[in-house]
Amino acid sequence: MDQWLEGLEPIVEHQDLKVPYRYSMGATTSKFFIEIRDQKKILGIRCPKCKVVFVPPRSTCGRCFSPLDKWVKVSDQGTLQTYTIVHYPTPVQPAPTPLIYGVIKLDGADTGLAHLINEADYEKLRVGMRVRAVFKEDRLGNMLDILYFKPVEIIKGKRGKGVRPKAKITKGKTRGIKRKA
Ligand SMILES: [Zn+2]
Repeated sequence: MDQWLEGLEPIVEHQDLKVPYRYSMGATTSKFFIEIRDQKKILGIRCPKCKVVFVPPRSTCGRCFSPLDKWVKVSDQGTLQTYTIVHYPTPVQPAPTPLIYGVIKLDGADTGLAHLINEADYEKLRVGMRVRAVFKEDRLGNMLDILYFKPVEIIKGKRGKGVRPKAKITKGKTRGIKRKA
């Protein structure tokens, strides 16, 4: 125990601190969100030295500290690297619980993008499954311009050659994420 507490009854007051604030996203993140808002394009940024493609983009390579400015378009589809199902509601969640958070490595990217997973059967969720972005209709320039990612079903062609992705609608949808703002 700290000395100043000896022989003293510590009085503890509990309060909630609410801090609304605004900040500039900066040139790199602004471009990322502008392309999603205006073109439904997801961009990454490639390190000229170690060749890593970061999504979301960043202005400095986290591995070799090179400055980054080489933009590359990545796919709106990718692979689920990990996920969690949230049952405990808090005011900061972007949707009612239960909801699924996942980390998605988009095709063409080397890093994972954290986002919501929806239109998914909880029982069939698995690491490695294919998912694709569902964009909001009225986009505002923020991360929720991508509403969520949903599973992609791979179906073999008529003659067993090739594959084509098809959106999969399944039971056990999460609630409360609407397509329109
Ligand atoms: Zn690098």
